[in-house]
Amino acid sequence: MLRSTFDILRCPYCGGRLDLVTSSYHQTQGDEIQHGILGCQCCVFPVVDGIPVMHLQPPATQARELVEQGDTLKARRVMFGLGGNVDSADKADRAGEAVGERVDALIASSDATYRAIVEAFGEYIEGGYFLYRFADPTYIVGHAVARAVAGTVLTRGGRAIDICGGSGHLTRSLMDLSSPAPVLADLYFAKIWLARRFTAPGCEPVCCDGNAPMPFARGSFRYAMCSDAFMYIWTKRQFVQDMLRLTDNGDGGRESAAVISHTHNQCTWTPSHGQPLTPDGYRNLFETIEPRVVGESSLFADVVNGGPLDLSRQAAEKALEAEPALTIIATRHAGVLVPHALEPPPDRAQGEFRVNPLYAVSGTTAASVMFHLRFPSEDYEQEYGACRQYLPEDVAIPREALPVLAAGRVPVELADLLRRRVIVDLPRGYGAPSAGIT
Ligand SMILES: [Zn+2]
Repeated sequence: MLRSTFDILRCPYCGGRLDLVTSSYHQTQGDEIQHGILGCQCCVFPVVDGIPVMHLQPPATQARELVEQGDTLKARRVMFGLGGNVDSADKADRAGEAVGERVDALIASSDATYRAIVEAFGEYIEGGYFLYRFADPTYIVGHAVARAVAGTVLTRGGRAIDICGGSGHLTRSLMDLSSPAPVLADLYFAKIWLARRFTAPGCEPVCCDGNAPMPFARGSFRYAMCSDAFMYIWTKRQFVQDMLRLTDNGDGGRESAAVISHTHNQCTWTPSHGQPLTPDGYRNLFETIEPRVVGESSLFADVVNGGPLDLSRQAAEKALEAEPALTIIATRHAGVLVPHALEPPPDRAQGEFRVNPLYAVSGTTAASVMFHLRFPSEDYEQEYGACRQYLPEDVAIPREALPVLAAGRVPVELADLLRRRVIVDLPRGYGAPSAGIT
């Protein structure tokens, strides 16, 4: 963590400022704290591998003891959920230990990919369909909403936070908008660790519990978001009030926004349902501001049709109740709840351009490589099959375009394939198969 993060970091329990306990074991390098102990008036918290751990769940306590003893590698393993007690006779502990050794070895090698590390974690991390994440329907809506809203409220500077942001897929969408760099907050240490290395390099990860008060000072951010996670939060009222506190810059919300995107709807059934509320139930959480609730199917249609992304729409309650997922925007900024033109696809890769890993090479001609859409499983097709609305069944890519893509640029004639996510901009070292691109 950067020492400047002390300006926004607060104890979740006493609200006090934190500082490095210099009498305890610590490792620092310039402006960065790699390992150490942070103290406030009520608690001590560890910094493990540059990530402050701002909760008191058992692994955090164990990791803090290990950092105090200077055993930082074992502290990281404990935070990864991979045991750390080598002397244990417990079978599950020993299995975790073996996984821990493989993960540590991969991390130490500079060419290990995101995919290789996630696969080494196996059942110890929920990897899911991460390879396809940057082109799935939930992501493309979340990305468009983040670009539109954060792009508006952060025009004159200010910081963003991605709460329950997991391994940082949408934090990546905020990297060039947030100044200083965005904070990625999540309970799962392994995921935010991976985000900092691969998905959103340069973000400031903070490990904290979404069901506890958030460990940040009032007004630390102009933009706060929580995507695809809010239905799993039990303490929803506290969470929303805290989002509003974090974005309270003392101007009545005229320059900030709090966004919950892709939260499920109690009125409809969806896979991985969580504990969702009704549209009106969500509205009630905000108390001091009337948020805009938008059905995600309408935003999805906006994105698929090339925009604009219309955040001015006010749907009838009956229509909202039929939506499987909702986006909720709380703001008094005059420029947010309006139609937003979609950004043109970038002509330079943020990471590297790849053919979407949902495609497999189906044939070749002298001039082109042909690709065919195929889903990794029936479950995937059931949950994300709406991607057929922008991903064609078959596509041919001219051979001469492939080395241009591999060099990080999109030839003009392929710009539409980038817009349709047939070509995706993936993080470097993500580990997607390089179908057809050498
Ligand atoms: Zn405290």
